[in-house]
Amino acid sequence: MIKMLVCDFDGTINGGPSLGVDQFSAYLDTQPELHFIIATGRTLPSIKEGLTTHNYPKPRCIISDIGTRINYDYDLIADERWQHQLQTRWNKSAIQTALQDITFLGECNPSHQGDYKITFEGQLDHKQYSTIATALEQHSIDVDITYSHDWFLDITPKGINKASAIHYIMEKYNLAAEEICVAGDSANDTSMLTMPGINAILVANHYNEVAHLSGLNHVYTSNASHAEGVLEGLIYWQNNAVEKMVK
Ligand SMILES: [Mg+2]
Repeated sequence: MIKMLVCDFDGTINGGPSLGVDQFSAYLDTQPELHFIIATGRTLPSIKEGLTTHNYPKPRCIISDIGTRINYDYDLIADERWQHQLQTRWNKSAIQTALQDITFLGECNPSHQGDYKITFEGQLDHKQYSTIATALEQHSIDVDITYSHDWFLDITPKGINKASAIHYIMEKYNLAAEEICVAGDSANDTSMLTMPGINAILVANHYNEVAHLSGLNHVYTSNASHAEGVLEGLIYWQNNAVEKMVK
């Protein structure tokens, strides 16, 4: 039985027609036992604002800043334990120093920066990406670098991503991977879409950067886009779970 649905926001449940969001929300209303969770690269203020733009279901938990922040319930209580463990793995000024001579780094919009996330905006080619990775390595800075939507370059503490945050929540609520469904559209979803045992949904409008995941057994690629595609995938995995129980 699927007990938790974890959705990326931009390009996954957001970005399509509002009718699709309405259908998605109406279906979740019929599933009171299913926990709905957002996992986004956005900062918390940005996702809170984003969720007001359509009739989105209210999430029980928001994983924001690509996994570096977890907040629960409707009043969005921060998970202090999660935040605390990131402090020892993060030195923002050292990262800034390591990258100070790189001229092609894009804009660092203040509204996209997190306590444990640095985001640059702008298109990068493979060589430029490698130059950034090398500069960080040369300064012995152990971080994760994610380039997604062919625009956002996110630097986060090593090993902290949407998947590690979901794993933490799974342990907290005592859930198994097969009880969870995750949905995404771009490279910053790769960690969660490839979690062992998970039921994954790739919406039809996914970016080319994750197209290779559609060949995986545990990934359902929807025919529909955005929220409608998530709904299609969720129903697929729910039916699949029922079939497994019957067998
Ligand atoms: Mg996305």
